[in-house]
Amino acid sequence: MAAVPPLDQSRFGYLKPADVAQIAEAYRFSGAAHAGQTRRSGEPYVSHPLAVAEILADWRLDGQALVAALLHDVMEDTSVTKAEISDTFGKPVADLVDGVSKLDKIEFQSAEDAQAENFRKMLLAMARDVRVILIKLADRLHNMRTLAAVAPAKRRRVARETMEIYAPIANRLGLNELFHELQELAFSHMHPLRYRVLAKATRAARRNRREVVGKIEAGIKAKLAEAGVPAVVSAREKHIYSIYRKMIEKHLSFSEVHDIFGCRVIVNDVPACYLALGALHALYKPIPGKFKDYIAIPKANGYQSLHTDLIGPYGVPLDMQIRTKQMHRLADSGVASHWMYKGDADSLSAMQKNTHQWLQSLLEIQSQSGDSQEFLEHVKVDLFPDEVYVFTPKGRIMSLPRGATAVDFAYAVHTDIGNKCVAAKVNGELVALRTELRNGDRIEIVTTGYARPNAAWLQYVRTAKARSNIRHFLKTMQYDESAALGARLLEQALKAAGHPQPTIDEESWDRAVRDSGARSRREVLADIGLGRRLPAVVARRLLRKTGRERAKDGNPRNAAASIVIRGTEGMAVQLAICCRPIPGDAILGSMKKGQGLVVHVAECRQAKRSRRIEPDQWIDVEWDRRPSRMFPTALRVVVTNQRGVLAKVASEIAEAGSNIDAISMEEDRAVFTTMLFVIEVGNRSHLARVMRALLRLPEVERLARARE
Ligand code: MN
Repeated sequence: MAAVPPLDQSRFGYLKPADVAQIAEAYRFSGAAHAGQTRRSGEPYVSHPLAVAEILADWRLDGQALVAALLHDVMEDTSVTKAEISDTFGKPVADLVDGVSKLDKIEFQSAEDAQAENFRKMLLAMARDVRVILIKLADRLHNMRTLAAVAPAKRRRVARETMEIYAPIANRLGLNELFHELQELAFSHMHPLRYRVLAKATRAARRNRREVVGKIEAGIKAKLAEAGVPAVVSAREKHIYSIYRKMIEKHLSFSEVHDIFGCRVIVNDVPACYLALGALHALYKPIPGKFKDYIAIPKANGYQSLHTDLIGPYGVPLDMQIRTKQMHRLADSGVASHWMYKGDADSLSAMQKNTHQWLQSLLEIQSQSGDSQEFLEHVKVDLFPDEVYVFTPKGRIMSLPRGATAVDFAYAVHTDIGNKCVAAKVNGELVALRTELRNGDRIEIVTTGYARPNAAWLQYVRTAKARSNIRHFLKTMQYDESAALGARLLEQALKAAGHPQPTIDEESWDRAVRDSGARSRREVLADIGLGRRLPAVVARRLLRKTGRERAKDGNPRNAAASIVIRGTEGMAVQLAICCRPIPGDAILGSMKKGQGLVVHVAECRQAKRSRRIEPDQWIDVEWDRRPSRMFPTALRVVVTNQRGVLAKVASEIAEAGSNIDAISMEEDRAVFTTMLFVIEVGNRSHLARVMRALLRLPEVERLARARE
């Protein structure tokens, strides 16, 4: 095994001695952690984090970023924990290392363009601190530079990922030099033969026209000097991958692409850019329609320059870029140029505002050059994301608005999944539907056939799709269910009036509907179900018109039967949340206008009060003998305050065959804590079973059903 390379401290000379000492310490730490590990090439592993730190030093990043770069693989590949890094190097460094490790864990699979875009956004959104992305990019650059040592299949996969994900991110952040190097390297590994042929042709063509190029450069320099514009003029070498792209996209031959001569003019300030442009247009003929002013209207990544195409001597097409030194620095290193180490404490604390600073500088560029809403949108989406990016179980990435919950995700996948969802798994763990999603989460929705949207969801969904689907569902369902309940209430009223088997003919119905001012029989029934019409009144109207008001047995009052509650009536029948009745409880029903039937426990205090005030609203109800679902009810549990007690209680409840719908806890008290559970049980004896099981726990002090 080769020796561990020494640390060349002179590369970090732009930093303060204290920072350099930390870097040396981090290098020792990383070397010890990676001891015995080697890279594919046979070198000691620590040579890789060192190379990454050196790349970042070339970009002039601050000390924390460099320390984090040296440690960027220790959490992944060794037993070192985040806490240890935090203890030794401080929390900011530990957060950076943790951020990079998180990015390493998510994997890009799909080859679709739209998915690649989402994946890039997800990476940017996950890296709260721009330095995390910069470390990741430097890591990728070094891996690409040393990719030849890796097995062919992996080489192709890494190269493709670099081309689709990392090079565009570098471009988005304005890291131009990096962007091109990543593209060149990726291309050379994806298409080695094409790369070799084009590289050879480029070298040959360059040799052949050296003389012409020299003449053009001299001509431009002379003209600018004459115009009194101090400038640095340099020929631009074309990147092999961009030549290849142009050949493919525009169906051009190699020489058609390559013969265009690229030239860059760098001047001192903005007015000089336009002066230089004027001078060049006087020297060579500009091609109409090719002039672009990216100074007035910068590109989305902040890039600024003047671009113009000219016809040079001997008819050589010239492709000119004119910009200031400052613009040039931004074009080469983009966001990193705002990260460059400045050395004093002031700028260091300003740096901690990370993305904010960059955004600020972009805003300044923007305010000088007028309005471009789209430009601002772009910056915002990338670095202050309003969106979260999450995975479906099949690895598809979906973007949702920030704050979106599992319910939003379910509706985004499919309306039916939304309508039937009951729970969600986030990264394999069961969570409540209201759980807010985070970047990179992998989400699986649990559905069941009988499940249906809940009005409570409307309080926490964020997407318009979820909202409108839930509303629509509730509206139609409520109407259907109310009509069904109305039919039963009417049947009860007819029974009470002495007509146990209603034999109401169409004619009577038509008349009753007309008399009620309703549009249909269903509307009348729904109105009854919603408490907008009294069933007795409708019954009387139906019977009177057919002359059957009096019952055949002459005793219209004796057959009043109560309404049977099955628990499957849906929204037309609500179980009061003040007392949460369950089968086995004595119950009463109240009909309120527009609310339908609300079922209370008979001794519920709220129900008793309301019965004194409005006795007419109350009707007899009873439970069906075999209720077909589980019912929520509330339990107050007082426990001794100790670690893990919630988990114990919760698992005991689950063990007893009951689901937990909600948990709330009182603020920490010294000895006892009160926990409030909403659990689902089949009936009273099931609840009794759950309570007995809980009482067996030594931690449980007191236990009672919670009312109000
Ligand atoms: Mn690495």
